[in-house]
Amino acid sequence: MQSRRGKQEREKTMHALVFYEHGGPEQLRYAGVPEPVAGPGEALVQVKAAALNHLDLWVRQGIPGLRLAMPHIGGSDVAGVVAAVGEDVDEAWVGRRVIINPSLGCGRCEYCRAGQQCLCAGFHVFGEHVPGGLAEYAVAPAANLYAIPDDFGFAEAAAVPLVYQTAWRALMTQARLRAGERVLILGAGGGVASAAIQIARLAGAYVYAATSTPAKERRALELGADETINYREVDFSKEIWRRTGKRGVDVVLENVGPATWAGSMRALCRGGRLVTFGATTGRFAETDLNLLFWNQVSLIGSTMATYAEFEAVMGLVFSRRLRPIVDRVMPLRDGAEAQRLLGAGEQFGKLVLEP
Ligand code: ZN
Repeated sequence: MQSRRGKQEREKTMHALVFYEHGGPEQLRYAGVPEPVAGPGEALVQVKAAALNHLDLWVRQGIPGLRLAMPHIGGSDVAGVVAAVGEDVDEAWVGRRVIINPSLGCGRCEYCRAGQQCLCAGFHVFGEHVPGGLAEYAVAPAANLYAIPDDFGFAEAAAVPLVYQTAWRALMTQARLRAGERVLILGAGGGVASAAIQIARLAGAYVYAATSTPAKERRALELGADETINYREVDFSKEIWRRTGKRGVDVVLENVGPATWAGSMRALCRGGRLVTFGATTGRFAETDLNLLFWNQVSLIGSTMATYAEFEAVMGLVFSRRLRPIVDRVMPLRDGAEAQRLLGAGEQFGKLVLEP
């Protein structure tokens, strides 16, 4: 099959939100850069909306061991229209409305061949290790395209891929959350947490959502949380202890890290599971080993998801059983301001940028 966008064509330029050096939001530039070209097995997507994640802030700030080609284009969550495909890709994709699954497995390691999550050094995240979607166009493997319904808006769709797969794998696969169990979800205004509240509710669990303001508590209740806790006003682990009759919860979903780790450990029941997918307040936390062994607690890590998990949760979102939460939509050229807002944690749900 012929490439629709050969190298012989004059190089085109596009607008993108880029940084040339790591640092704060002031490093971001809305600049003209070369439009990417779909290689074999890849598709070129005209970006209609791209959602921000905390990951974008980490990548911009610089992650130890992560070496990027500069300038870097962040953005792991994209919704758009397939503009062109490279060799070996079905032309029927062109013109279709899609999201991109940002989990880029190597496709070759023992885990990938077994249909599991890629766990080798070849695992990449779209927008983290390779250029992402904070641009007018983005290139991704065609295997990572996922068609979306015509009646689903691009901004809503862009809010979905990373957070829903992360919440799904963490709660359902890794922590094995079951109907009737109690789960505590921290930082309910976060993208993964707002997905997790809905997933836990759908799974038949009883949901405690901890967050920082009365407005966020109301939003968490609207999403299906059974009870909320304002962790600025009370010690959330004592509150869980009190409200569960000194039993604790079966599962805690963590991404805060040192600021909440000890409390999360104390909030667990005997045999409880703490599942973490992030460390927003730092990489190192102290674990009370007496609590760990005496209460027979499991500490579980989770990141992104397998393709099968991705498809399972996307099916629930795009059949409208789970709802993407968009805080606001802003122009891509205001991406630095959007990243400042996300860094301050003032949003509830996703910040979406439109090129
Ligand atoms: Zn692999």
